[in-house]
Amino acid sequence: MADLIEEINKLQPGMVAVLGIPYDGGATFLAGQAQAPVRIRESLYSDSTNLSAENGMDLSAHTGWKDIGDLAISSDKAAFGEIEKALGQLMERDCRAAVLGGDHSITYPILRACAGKYPQLSLLQLDAHADLYDEFAGKRFSHASPFARIMEQGLVKQLVQVGIRTQTPHLRAQAENFGVQVIEMREWDPAVEIELGEYVYLSLDMDVLDPAYAPGVSHHEPGGMTTREIIKLIQGLKGTLIGADIVEYNPDKDVVGITAMAAAKLLKEIIARMMAT
Ligand code: MN
Ligand code: MN
Repeated sequence: MADLIEEINKLQPGMVAVLGIPYDGGATFLAGQAQAPVRIRESLYSDSTNLSAENGMDLSAHTGWKDIGDLAISSDKAAFGEIEKALGQLMERDCRAAVLGGDHSITYPILRACAGKYPQLSLLQLDAHADLYDEFAGKRFSHASPFARIMEQGLVKQLVQVGIRTQTPHLRAQAENFGVQVIEMREWDPAVEIELGEYVYLSLDMDVLDPAYAPGVSHHEPGGMTTREIIKLIQGLKGTLIGADIVEYNPDKDVVGITAMAAAKLLKEIIARMMAT
């Protein structure tokens, strides 16, 4: 942690920091997401492609971002505190965070840190699942509940969920109680404009993609988005993107690294979008 804090303090204010959070203690069905950051980086830096984003930004030559490596998590018990501390340091430094998870439970401690800096935050969640369970399998802090914790604590001004296709009566009731705006996959239209505030955080669960595009996830949910639809959504985001996470990639379920490459592609577009404003 001390090494990472030192690394963060070397960043210039306004820079985008890519940070890996190799944590899957919040998985309830199939872990493996802790191996994601190293595999996504292999694809990101692979000679099979380049570091150009579609807007023409050459990330290999751009000094506006830096990969600061992985957060060293000392134990499951300490994980959330360590995540919040690292992200808090990035926010204090006035940097933007592009986080590679990890299972989706990490979004709660990340948002605790971001909300300290941006109390009027709009949170956009792309996911096949609402992750709004009050508790799931007896747990309140797993990958299935981060957005319930975030909304209970009033950490964001607005939560918009896109791509959801596994609703239950409990999840619908939770969304209604918390005032969550849900754009379910069955009503999703790429032309729809998502209304967000000035400061935006994007939480991208890889299972929002159709399993045909991203088989490397723990919970396959057919009928999802194409990679192109997500890219367009990132490129068209309004406001200031202050942070983002790409979570739930599970290399154990991947096929020829296709999901790692999709995550790396989306990361490039997120970095470029962050540096464009
Ligand atoms: Mn999901
Ligand atoms: Mn999720």
